[in-house]
Amino acid sequence: MFAPKDVEKPIVPVRLDLDSTICFSCDRDLACFTRCCHNNNTYLTPYDVIRIKKRLDMPSDELLLRFTVPGKIEASDLPVPMVKLDPERDNACPFLGEDGCSIYEDRPVACRYYPVAAGLFHNADISDNERFFALVKEGYCLGHDLGTEMTIAEWREKQGIPPYDEYNKGWVELILRRKSLGPFVTIPEKTLDMFFMASYNLDAFRRFVLYSPFLNIYEIPGDRLEKIREDDIELLNLGYDWLMTTLFGAGKLKIIEHIATADSIEVD
Ligand code: SF4
Ligand code: SF4
Repeated sequence: MFAPKDVEKPIVPVRLDLDSTICFSCDRDLACFTRCCHNNNTYLTPYDVIRIKKRLDMPSDELLLRFTVPGKIEASDLPVPMVKLDPERDNACPFLGEDGCSIYEDRPVACRYYPVAAGLFHNADISDNERFFALVKEGYCLGHDLGTEMTIAEWREKQGIPPYDEYNKGWVELILRRKSLGPFVTIPEKTLDMFFMASYNLDAFRRFVLYSPFLNIYEIPGDRLEKIREDDIELLNLGYDWLMTTLFGAGKLKIIEHIATADSIEVD
């Protein structure tokens, strides 16, 4: 799911699971300090955007415009914002300050995982998706074989990753559903725009929900509506339900009766 950082020397991926152990420690005294924050391909997940926009006290559209470029999620055609590198600073991440990561407590989940790359297999024969990991060994990174041994599960806890799993779960499900349709099913541009807005540009999605015909079409209970006015996580969950309903007919949102019986529904 998350792209490894760019490389000067070949990556040696080793497939791992939650119980596999790694030995790694990152320290600012190492000669490679912040080397991994240059020339990298860092994707932002929906919860990354929520954390960073709150940290910077910035609306989501401004954050996306200033700090990201458009990317695509592998084998899905679905859009994803990628952190925009600064060519005038040796292709540094824009959040890299003189003293290291300026948003460290709210850094993206891909940065938290590093040097572990994480992915999910969607297997139709099993009820749960299969999680897998790989250790990415890049030539410049001096943190390997330092520190104490720990499992991938322990690494994930140490890096504060579990809330990202929880709040990105609906997004991951949408991606896996899209992938399961196969590469020959094309997605209309308008649908890709809907996916982008509801997944990443939450302030625009909030305006869309509150000030478009959305509430004339979907039955949203009053207490849920009140929460989404202020709460980005509630809004994100509404977005997942909306996308599941409109993209995959999953029926997560109830359509208001007189609309449901009309011949067609147009959502602009
Ligand atoms: S040890 Fe690796 S992860 Fe840590 S600063 Fe150096 S290159 Fe980056
Ligand atoms: S967000 Fe922080 S940790 Fe991640 S690449 Fe940028 S500066 Fe480095």
